[in-house]
Amino acid sequence: SDRLISPQSSAFEDVQDRAIRPSLLSEYVGQPAVREQMEIFISAARRRQEALDHVLIFGPPGLGKTTLANIIANEMGVAIKTTSGPVLEKAGDLAAMLTNLEEGDVLFIDEIHRLNAAVEEVLYPAMEDYQLDIMIGEGPAARSIKLDLPPFTLVGATTRAGLLTSPLRDRFGIVQRLEFYNNADLTHIVQRSASLLGVEMEDAGAREIARRSRGTPRIANRLLRRVRDYAEVKSDGVITAEVADLALNMLKVDNQGFDHMDRRLLLAMIEKFDGGPVGVESLSAAISEERGTIEDVLEPFLIQQGYMVRTPRGRMVTSHAYLHFGVTPPGSDSE
Ligand code: ADP
Repeated sequence: SDRLISPQSSAFEDVQDRAIRPSLLSEYVGQPAVREQMEIFISAARRRQEALDHVLIFGPPGLGKTTLANIIANEMGVAIKTTSGPVLEKAGDLAAMLTNLEEGDVLFIDEIHRLNAAVEEVLYPAMEDYQLDIMIGEGPAARSIKLDLPPFTLVGATTRAGLLTSPLRDRFGIVQRLEFYNNADLTHIVQRSASLLGVEMEDAGAREIARRSRGTPRIANRLLRRVRDYAEVKSDGVITAEVADLALNMLKVDNQGFDHMDRRLLLAMIEKFDGGPVGVESLSAAISEERGTIEDVLEPFLIQQGYMVRTPRGRMVTSHAYLHFGVTPPGSDSE
């Protein structure tokens, strides 16, 4: 994607990220409720020397689901095997992963809502009874194989809990929902990353980057890298509030952290649909963006920030959005 503030990552970014990704719960900034609960569940499982119960983590992209899955394995002192819903095409693909697990290991399945039904069927007995129950071969030679698996922890990640089938959702003993980060936590994340990367930064510089990061650590770290480039080339390398502001303006990240896609979505609602209510399909057509992207990536932040709402009749912008774009709301008597 060409979106600077896209919450999705690229392979290159994942490599760069290794140096700054937290590996312990104590380094995981924010999400106090999640941290507190996970600390207790992990200590208890460790004390009993049992595998941790299966964990479902949901929340918009870039908020720290993969990071948390890795932290869980680290804190449990076990290995993690990582895969994703779309990669597991056949039941055999999942069987291969499951039979590779050692006792207590974490199996992390990203985008778990995208598992196909045949693969999901194999997951149920594996989660419930640590049993692999699978058909191999076809026709008259087909036979069913049953195997005991070692106790393991499935960690599933998804953008929205509602995307999971209920039999799958019901098999997770622990469900954690990640929230957008507040400015104080994001400032802390930017400062932590800057110090790990050896970047000189004033507190006000960190706050400016944090404020414009769409509540999302992945975006905060990405903006930090771009602002660092700007500071090195255009100034003396130190990230001050002014340098951050100039750099982010140049990058067209506005002072609410909106980029062109956010602006397009809100402006389409205002200009083409009189502020709504409008169905997500019509919006999708109006801005040529997939419905899934609108629902998983764009609107969660805009709703959380109070720029739009979901009603039973469709999406509507709020007076906040009109104010942001300097447009007078329809039916207002200030004209
Ligand atoms: P997701 O899997 O939800 O898309 P990631 O776990 O890949 O998100 O997080 C993106 C990046 O943001 C991580 O690599 C990490 O550097 C940073 N990050 C995420 N959550 C936190 C956190 N709680 N504290 C510090 N950094 C974080």
